[in-house]
Amino acid sequence: MTARVLVVDDILANVKLLEARLTAEYFEILTANSGRAALDIISRERVDVVLLDVMMPGMDGFEVCRRIKQSPQHAHIPVIMVTALDQPSDKVEGLEAGADDFLTKPVDDIALITRVRSLARLKVLADELMMRASTTQDLGFGPGGIAEWTEAAAHGHVLLVEDHPRSAQRIVDGLSKTHSVVVERDPQAALMRMAEQSFDLLIVSLSLSGADGLRLCSQVRSLDRTRHMPIVMMVDPGDEARLLRGLDMGVNDYVLRPLDRNELLARIKTQIKRKRHADLLRAKLDQGMEHAITDPLTGLHNRRYMESHLATLVNQATQSGRTLSVLVADIDFFKNVNDTYGHDAGDNVLREFATRLRRNTRGIDLACRLGGEEFVIIMPDTELSRAMQVAERVRACIAAEPFQVNQQSTLAVTASVGVSTLERRDDTPDTLFKRADTALYTAKRSGRNRVVADAA
Ligand code: GH3
Ligand code: MG
Ligand code: MG
Repeated sequence: MTARVLVVDDILANVKLLEARLTAEYFEILTANSGRAALDIISRERVDVVLLDVMMPGMDGFEVCRRIKQSPQHAHIPVIMVTALDQPSDKVEGLEAGADDFLTKPVDDIALITRVRSLARLKVLADELMMRASTTQDLGFGPGGIAEWTEAAAHGHVLLVEDHPRSAQRIVDGLSKTHSVVVERDPQAALMRMAEQSFDLLIVSLSLSGADGLRLCSQVRSLDRTRHMPIVMMVDPGDEARLLRGLDMGVNDYVLRPLDRNELLARIKTQIKRKRHADLLRAKLDQGMEHAITDPLTGLHNRRYMESHLATLVNQATQSGRTLSVLVADIDFFKNVNDTYGHDAGDNVLREFATRLRRNTRGIDLACRLGGEEFVIIMPDTELSRAMQVAERVRACIAAEPFQVNQQSTLAVTASVGVSTLERRDDTPDTLFKRADTALYTAKRSGRNRVVADAA
């Protein structure tokens, strides 16, 4: 999907110029010649980035920006203020109005494309967060929503690589109100630092004496640990060739010297926002993987995990000639629990059963819920006689004390257990498992509440 950029300027020639440049980069362009017209378009259509002229008759750019940022539905649309070069105070006012970044007139091509691209990417992430918001009233202002995300991005841990002491000090002074900054003079030292600490953003000077800042950028991009680290480079005017090479190798953004504090702050904020979002997604992914291997009711491993793990364990044991045993436990007459006390009571029994099972397993044992009221413990380095002891201990622990089925009642519960062990060279997870199951069936038939070993 191409990003839609709304270009707002009261002078038609300016609109046409920006439109032509952005169209050449395959952005989709909407245009407005006044603040009112811009707000009108934003209220009706999807807009991904707003390029906003400051000086306009009627409603000026600051006011337009304020209104966008005050609207819960539209606050996440990135706004780039187009300011006059001789009005540095415009940037301060722009930031206060909530602007995300700045361009100065006459607008430089690289700056234009870099800014719009960077913010269009951010908008995609913000849209995702908006979509995840459970209700429209939420609008992403709940936990993990837009507001929290923005707030989290306001404070970052920044690594600055700059060997010019005065410049470094100025940057630290400019950032330290909102971010914590660590300064390294040398790229090698910076790499070591990154191995020890985690940072949200790296700022690299491309005018280090005796070292190549671009080389550091490329190293950071190629190392596993730092591959996703946002990088902003500081570039001297006229150093366009290296600036472009940096952008090509994946450096996220740049600032031109002499540095403008507000520009730097805006760019840092955008990059940290992106990083926070990526971190959030990664955490969700981990959580998703956790869900994929655990049984939600009992917190034990699920069948899928057990099956893949058992295959590995059987292989290892067969190859190294070590022992491995499997225990299958099934609750006796469990259907009666549900029928008499209800399904929730049944669930309570299953949870308590899992707890007792866990209590009787070692760290290297693998306890799983196969499904229903059937459970498995896989025991590496365990021979049959030892596995039988464990099984007996489990059985006794279940039968010893009644289970709390609900607030009023307790209930005696028993389980039958089948045990098998790795014996033949041609044993597979399947045969091992089937033998334990057959033993379990024998236990059921011969009266339940007992342990039976596989007779093979
Ligand atoms: P047996 O001694 O022969 O094992 O008899 P049983 O009643 O335990 O075995 P059966 O397989 O006939 O019944 C199992 C019951 O377990 C039926 C099903 O409704 C119940 N069940 C399966 N999964 C769950 C669950 O997640 N929660 C609850 N509460 N019940 C479940
Ligand atoms: Mg049963
Ligand atoms: Mg059953």
